[in-house]
Amino acid sequence: MQQLEKAQPAQPKLIALTAPSGAGKTTIARHLLKTYDELAFSVSATTRDRREHETDGKDYYFLTKEVFEQKIADEEFVEWEEVYEGQFYGTLKSEIKRILDEGKYVIFDIDVRGATSIKEVYGNEAKVIFIKPPSPEVLFERLRKRKTETKKSLEKRIARARRELTYEDKFDAILVNDELEVALNDAENLIKTTLNL
Ligand code: 5GP
Repeated sequence: MQQLEKAQPAQPKLIALTAPSGAGKTTIARHLLKTYDELAFSVSATTRDRREHETDGKDYYFLTKEVFEQKIADEEFVEWEEVYEGQFYGTLKSEIKRILDEGKYVIFDIDVRGATSIKEVYGNEAKVIFIKPPSPEVLFERLRKRKTETKKSLEKRIARARRELTYEDKFDAILVNDELEVALNDAENLIKTTLNL
């Protein structure tokens, strides 16, 4: 009698945190990196300007548009998106390899379309966590409170966040970020059980 081998669910190696703008994924990513040495941050490439507190090679690889386009042509990206008009962001294949070669798990802070691509490419090896505000109104309020936005860019961000909220069902887990302390704790537990830490 022929024995059928049961497919083993793959142990995730990649954790993508994704969320509408303003839902707090960067804070949660930083917290997880501080908590678990087993995780390493996937440094994305971007064409946007470096902010004052940011370091090239640590927060992002800051590239010119020309260099970014060359890397697209050379198929160096797992995924890339024009997240904001004229501003490109992408995950380099070499970055994922670098981290996996170190024997660590990869953690991404990535927009919802990028997270969808990561899931398509890596299947069960990737776990995508969608971070959600308690309600759309709370999210819009948080965006309004960010003093960095002009009226026009705020409207764009709100429209974008509205669209991004519709992605919730596509991912593996949902984490509601209402009280930050609770969300950080929930995120820790989720990672612990997902990666058997
Ligand atoms: P920021 O400019 O505020 O650092 O990031 C803007 C948005 O781009 C955030 O939603 C962030 O998660 C997303 N992002 C950062 N890196 C990547 C990437 O490699 N690929 C994609 N698709 N989005 C990214």
